[in-house]
Amino acid sequence: MPLTGGAPCVAAIELGGTKCIAAIARGREIIARKRWSTRAPEETLPAILDWIAEAPGGPLAAIGIAGFGPLVVDPRHANYGRIGSTPKPHWTGFDLRGSVAARFDMPIGFDTDVAGAALAEGRWGASQGCATHVYVTIGTGVGAGIVVDGKPLHGAAHPEVGHIRVRRDPGDSFAGACPFHGDCLEGLVAGPAIAKRAGMPAEQLAGDDPLWDRIAGEIAELVMTLMLTVPPQRIVIGGGVGGAQGDLLGKVRARATERLAGYGPGSDAGAIDRLVVPPGLGADAGPLGAVALALDALE
Ligand code: ADP
Ligand code: ZN
Repeated sequence: MPLTGGAPCVAAIELGGTKCIAAIARGREIIARKRWSTRAPEETLPAILDWIAEAPGGPLAAIGIAGFGPLVVDPRHANYGRIGSTPKPHWTGFDLRGSVAARFDMPIGFDTDVAGAALAEGRWGASQGCATHVYVTIGTGVGAGIVVDGKPLHGAAHPEVGHIRVRRDPGDSFAGACPFHGDCLEGLVAGPAIAKRAGMPAEQLAGDDPLWDRIAGEIAELVMTLMLTVPPQRIVIGGGVGGAQGDLLGKVRARATERLAGYGPGSDAGAIDRLVVPPGLGADAGPLGAVALALDALE
């Protein structure tokens, strides 16, 4: 802990498939931040670590790393801290945690970007007061962090519900864009998948394009699956795709309500409207997730 008193200063690294954000925070207040495009690890990570070493604030008490998955998050595993098989060129097998630990001798919190964002939303955002809650990102990929009683759920690995197969609307023959599974959820609704389906970047697809209805139906399948398995008291949906389109979440809620068909408690429209929400922390859910991991590493 710093000797200056007050909240500790921590560094946060949010590593995304498209962009990386580093931040310095005092407690949960971000006091400095910078953003990079995600390139090869040997290029991207040293730039981030150089910035942290010279950033204002400090002295640093801990670092939190919130990375895109799959990650080896079990400290007992020989590959703890590494990135698993990813379609992202150059990153498979990269020792993400080790590269940071080699440069900074301090406690390091390490988990997926979505586990971090879920923790942050639970502590400071839209999932406050919920014991069991989920953060879903729909961006370059689709991932979900599941928090149970204040801790990210890990078992044999971290959850990978972005790759479940979902029921699609009739007449849709898009082959899907996931290099592992084709038309899994990520292969249908992540930004690059939408770009393939639409023939244009997802951000250029008009808000009233009928493709959004299909996408909403597919995301609703994930909502329904989470409700039937976890089941969470809140599902926050963020990410570039999740947050961008005016009424995408409204469509997702309507489709989830329709498909659950009144089955089980919490399946009525009002309850689903309260269940599925945008991030309370807005675009800060990602970096504050890495802050939450850093603060947890101090305990
Ligand atoms: P990352 O995956 O690196 O964390 P994002 O969550 O911002 O980053 O996701 C980036 C993806 O989101 C890109 O594929 C991009 O096309 C898509 N995207 C970004 N903004 C929008 C938008 N306004 N509408 C639809 N898709 C968007
Ligand atoms: Zn997949």
